[in-house]
Amino acid sequence: MHDHRKLGRELGLFDTDPLIGSGLPYWLPDGATLRHALEEFIRTAERRAGYRHVYSPALGKRELYEISGHWSHYRDDMFPPMQLGGEQVLLRPSLCPHHAVMFRSRSHSYRELPLRMAELGGMYRAELSGVLGGLTRVRAIQLNDAHIFCTVDQVADEVAGALELIRSAHAAMGIRPTRYRLSLPGPGGKYVAAPELWQQSITMLTDVLDRSGLPYEAAEGEAAFYGPKIDIQFTDSAGREFTLSTVQVDFHQPEQFDLRYTGADGAEHRPVMVHRSIIGSVERAVAHLIEVHGGAFPAWLAPTQLVVLPVSAAESAPADALVERCLELGLRAEIADHELGSLGARIRQARLVPYQVVIGPKEVANDLVAVRLRDGQRLEPLPADELLSRITELIAAHSTLL
Ligand SMILES: [Zn+2]
Repeated sequence: MHDHRKLGRELGLFDTDPLIGSGLPYWLPDGATLRHALEEFIRTAERRAGYRHVYSPALGKRELYEISGHWSHYRDDMFPPMQLGGEQVLLRPSLCPHHAVMFRSRSHSYRELPLRMAELGGMYRAELSGVLGGLTRVRAIQLNDAHIFCTVDQVADEVAGALELIRSAHAAMGIRPTRYRLSLPGPGGKYVAAPELWQQSITMLTDVLDRSGLPYEAAEGEAAFYGPKIDIQFTDSAGREFTLSTVQVDFHQPEQFDLRYTGADGAEHRPVMVHRSIIGSVERAVAHLIEVHGGAFPAWLAPTQLVVLPVSAAESAPADALVERCLELGLRAEIADHELGSLGARIRQARLVPYQVVIGPKEVANDLVAVRLRDGQRLEPLPADELLSRITELIAAHSTLL
């Protein structure tokens, strides 16, 4: 595996500057393109799975986090409050409290459940400067988060559905988990007290895992302060394990925020909150993609998907025209003109681009294009239309094939 910090800088994906601050990376154009593709993929997958997207602010009043329990259980990881007039405002440590308040802002019938609320939103963690590095330990985090408000009877199906969504996203990203972990409370941790609710959540998660057939291990001391969770663990280039995806069952926050829905019996009931994240933070997910693929990303994620290489100045015009057609089709295409060096040097320069299209006099004469893949494989010369429709299909399917 590659070290994402080194490779990410070499590839011009992201960087940091002491003047902005440690743990606060910025994204350069190629990194921003990759991130945008990943975020759009997640949003599309969520929409298909019945989620509705929202936006909520990255700040909230201290009272919000007192109610959610973050203030008493999680304060050490939060930035200090900002005094604003007579109030204290905080950079949020998670999106859950905002989503709970948003659910509460409308009355709900059992017919609307499960209600799946998703957001790719900012959150903040006051990491100590000694542990910061690259994209894996950052102070400003873009979280892929969602909260499913549902009845107790719907929890098992929702957890199983979330696990399936996570599994198919990992496949499209070309990444593989190290293990599934059932994260339980442990001795000495800061957890909300409600033994019977903890037991109920643990039973539900265990049942789903057992029925899924996925191998998993239970680990004490890894639960969230409000409930147990299924964590999907990956390993980084230094051999360290980390959590990328997670599914949690929470009875605590619906209680704290007094969430309700009207049941079929006309009475008010308490929903359950299932928290789930497909890729965790965008930062961590991109760090892992860099380490696994070494910059040779699946075509749907590649900052440049297709590069056109005219052999000489004579092919510049048809090469430009091909790039133009690619852009119209929504492909990320560039020209590597003969002025940039020999054909061999330009191919080396473009070695991480999934499709390298060479146009020489023979191709122009026959109205064909010659394609070279990243592994050095050459496809039979083919008409440009045929190539472009093949590529757009693979990209639309988020395929890892070329
Ligand atoms: Zn949450």
